[in-house]
Amino acid sequence: MSLVELHAIHKSFGELEVLKGIDLKIEEGQVIALIGKSGSGKSTLLRTINGLETINDGTIMVAGKKVGDRDTDVLTLRLNVGMVFQQFNLFPHYTALENVMLSPQVVKKQSKAEAKEVAEEMLAKVGLADKMMHYPDQLSGGQQQRVAIARALAMKPRVLLCDEVTSALDPELVNEVLAVVRQLAEEGMTLVMVTHEMRFAREVCDKLVFMDQGRIHESGAPEEVFANPKTSELASFVGGLA
Ligand code: ADP
Ligand code: MG
Repeated sequence: MSLVELHAIHKSFGELEVLKGIDLKIEEGQVIALIGKSGSGKSTLLRTINGLETINDGTIMVAGKKVGDRDTDVLTLRLNVGMVFQQFNLFPHYTALENVMLSPQVVKKQSKAEAKEVAEEMLAKVGLADKMMHYPDQLSGGQQQRVAIARALAMKPRVLLCDEVTSALDPELVNEVLAVVRQLAEEGMTLVMVTHEMRFAREVCDKLVFMDQGRIHESGAPEEVFANPKTSELASFVGGLA
């Protein structure tokens, strides 16, 4: 069984059907880039995986547990699935260290000492060992996003979902965040990232998944998918990138 399995996922907001039958398997250690036009359903898809959105039909399994099942603890799901957003959403009145320490204490009931040890480790991992006592407004956007990544990692998720984590950043800050994601990928972290960084997707991801209007139109090795678009939707998307 794959780490994450989506089968025939349908999701509507009122009359608007946003996911129209999505099948996707995510293997342990796989790095997936999810691409497609704005409004194609990428964020909604990520949000269904960690239970932030309920689905109308289909099944989602994460680490062998069905999402949305009465018997599946939402807490366990949230522990397994980490998520990082375009906006960093740090608590402004907490330091970087406190931001990272919070969830492990509240959700995992770790002691303060334990949470601090993990938080220091994760902040060092994202290159912020010297910024732990800084407040978000004392950090650049790239540094704030790295704190957000450290915060997600502190929960020791089985899979990390990244939704356009560099889209809100000034161009000169994009690379420091991508470098952290690349390092995670190299360490074997299972990753699904919605991204517009096509070069990064090509270099780092094992698999490219192209969505359009609520459907996965194509998926496969990035090189092949980019080189030989089989659908007019992807051809036009790739054409639009140049
Ligand atoms: P993407 O991330 O690919 O840009 P989204 O998943 O954010 O796409 O959105 C897909 C579609 O669903 C869009 O038409 C968007 O307006 C709509 N949508 C997303 N979230 C909601 C919501 N909470 N309520 C109503 N419509 C939504
Ligand atoms: Mg989105």
